[in-house]
Formats: sequence, structure tokens, C-alpha cells
Amino acid sequence: MGMRTNNLGFPRIGENRELKKATEAFWKRDITAAQLLQRAARIRENNWLLQAGMGIDLIPSNDFSLYDSMLDMCCTLGAVPDRFGWSGGAVGLDTYFAMARGVEGAEPHGGTPPLEMTKWFDTNYHYLVPEFHRRQRFRLSLTKALDEFEEGRRLGTLTKPVLIGPVSFLALGKEKEGGFDRLSLLPDLLPVYSELLSTLAGLGAQWVQLDEPCLILDLTQEQKQDYLGAYRQLRESVPGLRLMIASYFGPLGDNVELMLGLPAAAYHLDLVRGGEDLAPVLAAMPAGAELSLGVINGRNVWKNDYTRSLEAIGKAKERMGSDRLMVAPSCSLLHSPITLAGETGLPPELRKMLAFAVEKLGETAELAALAENRRDRSKLEANRRSHQAWRQQPEIHQPQVQQRLREIGAPHLQRSGAFPERLAKQKEILPLPLFPTTTIGSFPQTGELRAVRQKFRQEKLSREEYEGFIEERIRQLIKRQEEIGLDLLVHGEFERSDMVEYFAELLDGFTFTANGWVQSYGSRCVKPPIIYGDVQRAKPMTVRWSAYAQSLTDRPVKGMLTGPVTIQQWSFVREDQPPSETARQIALALRDEVGDLEAAGIKAIQIDEPALREGLPFKKKEWGGYLQWAVDSFRLASCGARDETQIHSHMCYAEFGDIIEAIIALDADVLSIEASRSQMELLADFRDNPYPNHIGPGIYDVHSPRIPEVAEIVTLLEKACRVLPKVNIWVNPDCGLKTRGEIEAWASLKNMAAAAKEMRKRWG
Ligand code: GLN
Ligand code: ZN
Repeated sequence: MGMRTNNLGFPRIGENRELKKATEAFWKRDITAAQLLQRAARIRENNWLLQAGMGIDLIPSNDFSLYDSMLDMCCTLGAVPDRFGWSGGAVGLDTYFAMARGVEGAEPHGGTPPLEMTKWFDTNYHYLVPEFHRRQRFRLSLTKALDEFEEGRRLGTLTKPVLIGPVSFLALGKEKEGGFDRLSLLPDLLPVYSELLSTLAGLGAQWVQLDEPCLILDLTQEQKQDYLGAYRQLRESVPGLRLMIASYFGPLGDNVELMLGLPAAAYHLDLVRGGEDLAPVLAAMPAGAELSLGVINGRNVWKNDYTRSLEAIGKAKERMGSDRLMVAPSCSLLHSPITLAGETGLPPELRKMLAFAVEKLGETAELAALAENRRDRSKLEANRRSHQAWRQQPEIHQPQVQQRLREIGAPHLQRSGAFPERLAKQKEILPLPLFPTTTIGSFPQTGELRAVRQKFRQEKLSREEYEGFIEERIRQLIKRQEEIGLDLLVHGEFERSDMVEYFAELLDGFTFTANGWVQSYGSRCVKPPIIYGDVQRAKPMTVRWSAYAQSLTDRPVKGMLTGPVTIQQWSFVREDQPPSETARQIALALRDEVGDLEAAGIKAIQIDEPALREGLPFKKKEWGGYLQWAVDSFRLASCGARDETQIHSHMCYAEFGDIIEAIIALDADVLSIEASRSQMELLADFRDNPYPNHIGPGIYDVHSPRIPEVAEIVTLLEKACRVLPKVNIWVNPDCGLKTRGEIEAWASLKNMAAAAKEMRKRWG
């Protein structure tokens, strides 16, 4: 039989984002449900044919989804919250999309909110969060996994159905009432899994893949017991079916023994993120069990290093022989763009070094063949040579950047004065009232603005025309901010389609694909930039717009930058140097920008780090190392500022009790954070660990069109006053206003300004 190839999942958006187009057309009722399902079936068929053609032995099914696989699982298992009015039976498309997107309704009832959405581990994919109640019952309510298996078979492919495993399914959900632990629902859940698995076996499935990414997390003794109990029960209920348990996104570490203790026919390892697991796994592999070696990075864009992969495969082969081994990508290819085929615009040397989903499957097959000596060694030689040649490409090495980084020492990571000193100097040049008001940066981006930008990109509009249009927007925005009496103004970020892309386009070392789309959630896809070389700034990036805005008003205008951690986190990163190094390079470029903004007369500069938290490693013991370089890179970017310049930062998440020390260590003069959705709950975190500098807890939720009342904002500010010194409190929304409509954005800001005035009257 020899070594086989295994794939965990293939992108489902279609090569030309057919799924996005089809679902959005269906939501607008431009196409019927039958048409939607037909187009979806075509994507699946293409994916299966492609994988079969590439010689993949274990081809996944049920990796497809009209919206999200966790949502599919909720519907499959009958975990549909009451508010969607589902009365049992098969879950229909309308209920399915209602859970994904909510149902709009008339005020004051406000319709039905969708399931919450959150990041899938540290990818940029978002899943829908299952909701559980104490009296939750499960039953098989969607036959999608069965149908897709049969569909594959009709097309001549015996697929391997993919399901989220029962423990991860519960663990990644959320209790919707207090007083119980969602893992306690396992006894009711497992029979439904058993039913599903035995039906699949009855249909002729030989393999089923159960994704258990939670195996890479810190698990309690109890959770480990849950895992063991669950898999023993599943195994017993479907003895003939071969279960493959898949872990990914990190090393198993202490959980190696646990995973191999779960009765299964095969285990999948992410050897890209968890290479250190290989030796202990090989030492403890249960007799007869098979191993899937995830040696190809499923979530980055680079060509595999065959020499390294073959080393790992070789070790496994030595121990286990070929017949029990499979070669695989590290995780589902969902997180990778689909194909390089259309990317003719990339520099040829770079293009040669890339591999998207299709190319990664080619590598998978090639590696298995090489490991079995079924392919001549010239492939390996060619791979080695291209890596070597790439390392010597002059474009990726900028000696002056590396030289500057070598000269960075502790003084570069430290403002000259301590906060109280800085504050005194800032007050002189930046007079602000008590409870100063500001916004987070972006203002509504209208369809007109997007159309104008599109025209400019297609060269149907000259640079002067485009820039004139942006300037006009800035003029109007400055005027309106003055009219409603905001204190620290912004220019509105109209020149940016995206807070990372904007900088990536202006920095050396980044490049862009033509069609490298990756699903972010539902029908939303993103095209992350690729960082391929040393990063440097050719010229100022934001000064033109900030200086223009400042020239229009006597009030201070805040400069607006995206921080080094966020730029890196939302891009495809280099694999030839650690992320900390890339972050330092970006930080250095931003540091120069801060200097140029200062020189242009900008007195306050905000450096956004909304992605700081999502970069946290999964294992707590690794947090320290990450936070150290994350904080250092922020400080490298910001600490070149003179004491007189007020440095702001912004983060949009409320749960930061556990990283509060790192946030304090950023030493921003003013921090604006999300707080309104949790009714300022985060203030509790400050009781033990008071935030020493100034802070703007977001006082209304920008993610909702709702307009907050003045009284409501005042109440929240009063609440903040009970925990924070009044002189430290800023008044701002909890994030940028880019996605809001003009009318509600301004109505909300007016109320915000009025609330600040009221507070000044009370306390001034
Ligand atoms: N300055 C950015 C904006 O206002 C911040 C966005 C964010 O935090 N995600 O759009
Ligand atoms: Zn934000």
C-alpha cells in the first residue's frame, strides 16, 4: 500500500468566489434556493475532482459549508436556539441563515440576533459560536454530512467526511445561562454522534475525520477525562469505522499522551506548529494506529521546504514503516488562497516560492512519492535550490534596516519622560477640557467613496481628482466635528480601504495577489498582503492627510497609524525569520512616521493594536515571550515621540483582564478600548491593577446602528468615575465608525458630546 496522502479540508469559496456571489444573490432573492444549492454542489464537485486528479488518497467531504462548519454542526446536532423558532425536523435554509446573520426586525424589538461570531483560534477565520442551555437536548437534524458523502460517491469519490469532534464542539461554544458546564452535555450529545457515524458507516464510509483542535489547549484533568470517556463511547458504538482524530494549530505538548490514549484508527498532527510533538508521538504510537503527518503549512503561502519535511517523514517511516503513514497539510486548506494559476502579476522569483491550496496538494503528493522513492531525486534537488536561491534574493534583505535594528537598545523603547511629566508638557500645547471627546479614527465609508477609489485604482480617475475628492471629504468631516464640539479631531481615514492594506501598499517588503482570497466569515473574504522581505518605508505614508486635516482647524487633529503587531497579524508572514523580527521592522518604519507626523505639527498620534490579543499563544506558559516582543514593538514604534506628543492606542476587545500588565506596559498616554457591550465590566479589572495613564472606555457600541441616549452615556461615564480618576477619563465610541451609516454616526456623536458637556457641568 505504501505511504498515502491525506487532506483535512479544501477552500469552499470557489476559485472565483462563486460561493460568495451565490449566497449574496440568494440573500437578495436574485436566485432561488435550488440555484444556490446547485452552485454549491458544483464547487464541491470541482474540489473533489481536483483532489482526486492530484492523487490525494483521503479526500474530505463535509468540509464544504454554505456559511460555516460550526454552524453546520449546530444544525446537524439540533443545537438551534429557541429564538429562531425552529420546531424540530430538518433545519431549513432560512433557519440556517437566520442563525448566521440574524433577522432584522422593527424597533423596539430589534429582530433576532444571530449566533455570536468569534475567531477560529488564531486564524483570521471567524466561526459561529454554538449556544447551550442547561436542558439542551440534541438530535440529528440535518443530513448534510450524509448527503455530501453520497454526493461524492455518486461522482466516483469515496470521501472522508469531516466533523467537528464532540469535545471541541462543546468546548468552543458558550453557556447561555449560569450554573452549569457545557461539557456536562456530553452524555446527551454522544448518542447523536454515534448515530451519525454509524449511518455514515452504513453508507460505506471507511474513514471519518473528527477535528479536535482543542487538544492543543491547556486542558484540566476533568476535560481530559471528558475526552477519554467520549472517544471510548464513540469507538464502541461504531467499531468498524476508521476514526481519524485531527489536532492542529499548535503543539499537543503535554496532551500527546491524551491524544494517543483516545481510541482511534489514525491521528493527525500539525507538524508545522507542533514539530516537537513528533518524537514523543512516535515513541508512544498505539500498535496498528496510523499517523497523518501535517508537514505542509495549511495557513501560509510559502513553498514547502522538502528537505525539512522529508526529515520528519523519514523519522516516522523509520519507526512505523510506510503503510501506516500519510502525508498531509498541517490543517484545513480553508485558510490558504486557492491557486497560483492566475497570479501572473507577481515577481517571478517570488511566485516560484509560493504555494496556495492547489499547489500545496501537489506538494503533499510529491512528498509522499519522494519519501517512497517513487519520484526521482531531482524534485528534491530543485526544491532545495529554489529555497537557496530565494534566501539570496537581494530584494528580501535590506542591510540598512538590519543595521538600524542592531542599533536598537533599551533607550529606544522608552519615552524620555515618565507619564506625569509628559502629561504636563502635553497640556501646554494641547489644551483639552475635562472628559475630552474624540473618535477612534474612521468615519462612514459610503458607496460613493468606494466607487471613487475603485475608479482611481482602475486608472479611470487621475491622482489629483482622487486626492481632491478625499480632501473634500476631510474638509466636511473637520467642519462637522467642530460643529458638534469634539475636542480631539480625526481626518476620517477616507484614503484607506483597510487599516492594514493601506500601510502594506506603501511599505517595501509587502506584495499583493490578484485573487488570493481567503474566507473570513460567511460570504466575506479577505486578501491579506504577503510580507516577503525586510520592511521599510520609502516615504511618509500618512503625513499628507493628517497635515492637510490639521491645516483646516485650530483644534488638534490626531494622526492615525496601524500598529506593528496588527499589520503582521493580518498579513501572510515570512517563515524565514521569527515574527518578532518582522514586527520590529514594521515598528521601525512606523517610528519614522511618528517623527514625520510630529515634524508636520501633529500633536497627538494614535497607533491601533486591535490584533494584539488575538496573537496570544494558546498555552499560557508561552504568553510571556509573545507579550514581551509585542509590547516592545509597540514601544519601538511609539517611543521616539517627544514628551509633548500625546501617544494614543486603541484596542477593540473588552476581555483584557489577563493581559492588563502588558497593556499598561505599552505606556500609551491615552488608551481607548471597547467597553460598552459589557456595560463597563472591564473596569473591574482596574480595581486591582489601576490603569495609570489616561483611558477612554468606549461608551457606545459601533457595531450596532442603535443611537445611544445622552442619559445612558452619562450613566456609563458615572460608572467609570467610580473606578477611575475623573481627570483620566476620555469620552469616545468603542471603535471606528467606518461601517456605520452617516445619520446614526452623527446622531450618536452628538449625544456623546452632549454627555461629555453634562459631565463637565457636574464635575468641572
Ligand atoms: N482607527 C481604526 C478605525 O477607526 C481602528 C479600527 C479597529 O480598531 N479595528 O477604523
Ligand atoms: Zn477597534
